Amino acid sequence: MNKNLKKKLFVISGSSGVGKGTVLKGFLNKHPEFMLSISCTTRKPRKGEIDGVNYFFLSKDDFQDCIANNKFLEWAEFAGNFYGTKKKYIEQCLTDGKDVILEIETNGALQVKEKMPEAVLIFIAPPSLEALESRLRGRHTEDEAAIQKRLNEVKKELESAKKYDYNVVNDDLEKAISELEQIIAGEQEKC
Ligand code: ADP
Ligand code: 5GP
Repeated sequence: MNKNLKKKLFVISGSSGVGKGTVLKGFLNKHPEFMLSISCTTRKPRKGEIDGVNYFFLSKDDFQDCIANNKFLEWAEFAGNFYGTKKKYIEQCLTDGKDVILEIETNGALQVKEKMPEAVLIFIAPPSLEALESRLRGRHTEDEAAIQKRLNEVKKELESAKKYDYNVVNDDLEKAISELEQIIAGEQEKC
């Protein structure tokens, strides 16, 4: 993508298991110049997840301190855990002229849009609810209670998707990656 285009903040959301991480990985492999924000969370690390790479894994007390000290651009509780984006990191990336991508849930995304209306919100939707549940279960990263909590969020998330700038259906993975590329390139050309 053209280096001289103005930098923008892109926010990607989608229900747990829809494949946002997979789509983003495909996108970032092709466009390594984009910075993927590393969020803070109180969730326990999954097997293979590394502190400072996948997330900054915080205790609830440390997360509450960050809220109290106004460190977050946005934060939300999702399926029993807290998640948040540090302001400083995003501001620094944009100041340094880097394109930034946030992969966050819908409450947080709408907070970002309120504070930064120029942010572009992209929702990754499943081809069907059955496919979504099957992907979430097939990942084998959550126990049944956590799966149920995540599935309970889906209806509200699909409602919030109506407020997004773009919706991309992740049916065929390569097609979803290519649609994401086109949306991002198109938005950059608007500047
Ligand atoms: P999310 O980040 O949205 O929670 P993941 O990227 O972890 O979801 O994907 C959940 C599961 O779905 C993974 O096992 C992944 O390999 C699979 N997956 C992702 N995209 C597709 C797709 N287009 N078709 C079939 N399976 C997919
Ligand atoms: P997971 O536990 O599967 O990694 O993430 C659960 C949900 O939290 C996903 O929808 C993910 O996009 C979202 N999430 C990850 N980081 C953040 C964040 O910094 N803020 C918010 N609001 N949501 C986040």
